[in-house]
Amino acid sequence: MSMFIPDMYKKNIFSINYKKLKEKGIKVLIFDFDNTLIEKGNYIVNDKTIKLFKDIKKSFNIYIVSNSIHESKLRKVCEKLAVPYIKGSSKPFKRGFKKLNLKDIKDRQIAMIGDQVLTDVLGSKRMNYFSILVDPINNDEWIATRFNRVIENIILKENKIKRGRYYD
Ligand SMILES: [Mg+2]
Repeated sequence: MSMFIPDMYKKNIFSINYKKLKEKGIKVLIFDFDNTLIEKGNYIVNDKTIKLFKDIKKSFNIYIVSNSIHESKLRKVCEKLAVPYIKGSSKPFKRGFKKLNLKDIKDRQIAMIGDQVLTDVLGSKRMNYFSILVDPINNDEWIATRFNRVIENIILKENKIKRGRYYD
């Protein structure tokens, strides 16, 4: 079950202590897209996120790896944030992550940040990345995601991880 347990759990991308990640030796940050950076279906990135990315880009190489196939929408946001992205990555499979071609960087120097246990956490664990779970930005989700959430809640409960009880 440890494949489903994030190394860190935070409310959102703004409550992560990036300085601490840097001190841990993390060099690369990979973000999920839907419901981690933007609200589902609303492909507008807010100023707060743009500012955060500007700041953390000074310390990390940043990528977005999304299972979304809506390339035009994904591209619009990623251009605004000025970060490279992988679309249709089919997390938890390794394919999308491998496309980043991060062979020169040790797995444990890479952190992956996302809102879903069954795709983001499991995917990053399979890659041996440092895994950070955040709460989804909103609860209006695709049917497949809602199904995943049911399983996710069972996994979290079995591992005594409580929603809203954040940890580093
Ligand atoms: Mg997501």
